[in-house]
Amino acid sequence: MALSSWQQKDKDYVWHPFTHLKYAETPINIVRSEGSYYFDENENKYIDGIASWWVNLHGHSHPYIAQKVFEQLKNNAHSIFSGFTHPPAVTLAERLLHHLPQNSSKIFFSDNGSTAVEVALKMSLQYWHNQGKEKTKIIAFEQAYHGDTFGSMSVGARNVFTQAFDSLLFEVLRLPLPTPQNFSEVKQLLQGFIETQNVSAFIFEPLVLGAGGSMQMYEAALLDPLIFMCQQNRVITIADEVLTGFYRTGKFFATDYLQHKPDILCLSKGITGGVMPLGVTACAAFIYDAYKSDDKTKTFFHGHSYTANPTACAAALASMDLLEQEETQNKIVHISSQHQQFKEKIKKHPRVLSARAIGTILAIEIKTTEQSGYLNRLSEKISTYFIKKGILLRPLGNVLYVLPPYCISQKDLQYIYHCIELFLKEEL
Ligand SMILES: *Cc1c(COP(=O)(O)O)cnc(C)c1O
Repeated sequence: MALSSWQQKDKDYVWHPFTHLKYAETPINIVRSEGSYYFDENENKYIDGIASWWVNLHGHSHPYIAQKVFEQLKNNAHSIFSGFTHPPAVTLAERLLHHLPQNSSKIFFSDNGSTAVEVALKMSLQYWHNQGKEKTKIIAFEQAYHGDTFGSMSVGARNVFTQAFDSLLFEVLRLPLPTPQNFSEVKQLLQGFIETQNVSAFIFEPLVLGAGGSMQMYEAALLDPLIFMCQQNRVITIADEVLTGFYRTGKFFATDYLQHKPDILCLSKGITGGVMPLGVTACAAFIYDAYKSDDKTKTFFHGHSYTANPTACAAALASMDLLEQEETQNKIVHISSQHQQFKEKIKKHPRVLSARAIGTILAIEIKTTEQSGYLNRLSEKISTYFIKKGILLRPLGNVLYVLPPYCISQKDLQYIYHCIELFLKEEL
């Protein structure tokens, strides 16, 4: 098809993320978005089945968030956050702490998920350094994904995403994802790391492994004892809730399913309802206290130009208002139960390898003759098929997932399920 003038200029001037320069389809030019829909320049409508890369909660261009952002833009669009503060950041910190685990005590702001993770790693490493202790090893899961900057890449899995940089990434102690079958081995491995290495921290995505693990899920009952073991041995625990926060798993935080609470939590993605970039790293008091000193070298030397941007904080506050509404809560429960029902229905399908669901995340791993994984060719087939049906789904290789904005209608959700069933009948 002929390129529109926008698409031609895009081709001339723009380099897109995670996009192969030769084989990628021409990008669809979105000129408007509303509720759970995108509209392109030819007035085609697409149901957003993946919440705009996992960020959108209440629908696109939400009027209430737009109004709050506009008010903030007119009032104080941005101000420096060192030596200065502002009401939106303070109010947001207070409101977040109300929902965060009891041991959370301070909020450190940054501007995306990767930086929220970088902050958590640096905070835990310097915690030991400030006490004159040499503890520099980090434990992480084999299939983890924590972001695309160097520190967050280092703790993430080594795969096609990191290949070009592997020799420059720092080494990490790896744990396999715990299952009921391997659990005693995983515990032993963790015990071994703690006893023989100078472990600073254990970082994990609670209950759902996102981009690295293709939406693999694991039980809170298997994570709890690992956190407990770390805490018994003074290893800092870091929950990366960048994907799972703000009711994605059915509870406010995935860690709300746990008995033992992590010392540090990383938040981003849904925090502003998917409107503005913002990152948060919440930490327990004992970590913050290790930085209180007369010695100026014990300062946490970290910050970003847009740290705690007031407009982003205003968007986050507006999104929290909407989250608290009964209607939103009902929608979350509804999507969760629809996902469970569809999972039960589809899991025995001969082309389905496995189906999994927690809260508003549904993932279906499709059988394929190729190796499972991000580069699996089913990926493009799935995207193209669903776009033709007016649905945005962007699978992780042969794993198709549905992770909609909470405002999605019952009809649209059922339509997505219906199209998945049709897709499974296709010649692949
Ligand atoms: C997306 C993601 C990140 C990185 O967030 P960005 O804002 O894309 O940098 C980190 N951790 C998890 C679990 C994520 O899903």
